[in-house]
Amino acid sequence: MDKDLKNNSYNELLDIAIAHQQKPFCAKYLFTFIHQKDAADINDITPLSKTFRNQLTEEGFTISRITLSERHDDPDGTIKFVFDLPGGVRIESVRLKDDDRNTLCISTQAGCRMGCKFCATGRLAFQRNLTTSEIVEQVYQAERVCGRIDNLVYMGMGEPLDNFDNVMRSVETLNDKNGRNLGIRHITISTCGLPEQIKQLALSSIQPRLAVSLHAPNDEIRSKLMRVGKTYRLDDILTSLKSYQSTTGKRITIEYCMIDGVNDQIDHARSLVKLLRPLKVNVNLIELNTFPGCRYRPSSPEQIRQFAEILSNSGIETIIRFKRGRSIKAACGQLGATWLK
Ligand code: SAH
Ligand code: SF4
Repeated sequence: MDKDLKNNSYNELLDIAIAHQQKPFCAKYLFTFIHQKDAADINDITPLSKTFRNQLTEEGFTISRITLSERHDDPDGTIKFVFDLPGGVRIESVRLKDDDRNTLCISTQAGCRMGCKFCATGRLAFQRNLTTSEIVEQVYQAERVCGRIDNLVYMGMGEPLDNFDNVMRSVETLNDKNGRNLGIRHITISTCGLPEQIKQLALSSIQPRLAVSLHAPNDEIRSKLMRVGKTYRLDDILTSLKSYQSTTGKRITIEYCMIDGVNDQIDHARSLVKLLRPLKVNVNLIELNTFPGCRYRPSSPEQIRQFAEILSNSGIETIIRFKRGRSIKAACGQLGATWLK
């Protein structure tokens, strides 16, 4: 059992309560106070007996928090939060505001092992996986500043499926009605496409939405853009997505970053249509955001429009993702950009 109570799922808290000869409802108090009422200290969980609270404290159990160290506001309403984590680790989260929605984009790792050449995070050294607490805390801290988060995207720093257990435990925790009660249809995990983990996700008892970063119509281009493209071929990824879809019946979002002269040609759009035909997908085209040292340029708006038209005319629902937060380096792929040497 993890001594940081915030890292434990409801069932794990139940095990802790039972191991301490407590009634099952004590686990519910623990969970509710930690994840709904933001208790900072075990002693604040007053419905629990003083003896049980003292026991937990003496045995070294804690309730962790992360530290908000910086806040940057973009004129378009985007806010970037910088958090300090134990061990000199820094991560970022981004709040995006729509008329009726408060979306938070959160990080799952400090750095990333996947090595995408067009992504600032991918250029940072990988430090470590975030704990479950460090993932859910990004939501709790953002809510203190900007009110209830009602839409959550795992699209910040790191590859969520490379930190599978902690990420899934965070989804379960945030979705729990005794916690934040965030609707599962309002939680999206974005992955660069790890086939084994996609299959594992399909079998999971909890089903967030899935977005897959494809970025190329063939392995040749993909493996130039993404180091992980050398390990997993498009064939393997598409097979895992077909199997995911036959198990879950869920539509998948395909993310495709538009890079000038690299993956944005008419032929590329046609190949992409063939690739995606067997799947039920919608495509998000993202104009490349640059950062210091980025060797690529974004496609022109006209090129993106043409590319989108080919997909749409072939019956693939396609949108061009509205870009925001660029003045504070909070747009897709720019997280960590300010720390690049
Ligand atoms: N690791 C996950 C989630 C984090 S990245 C993934 O790769 O899916 C979130 C999204 O931003 C991904 O679709 C990613 O490909 C995209 N992205 C990365 N760098 C970008 C850049 N420079 N400009 C635009 N989008 C970028
Ligand atoms: Fe990692 Fe995603 Fe960036 Fe690739 S795009 S380096 S997988 S965070």
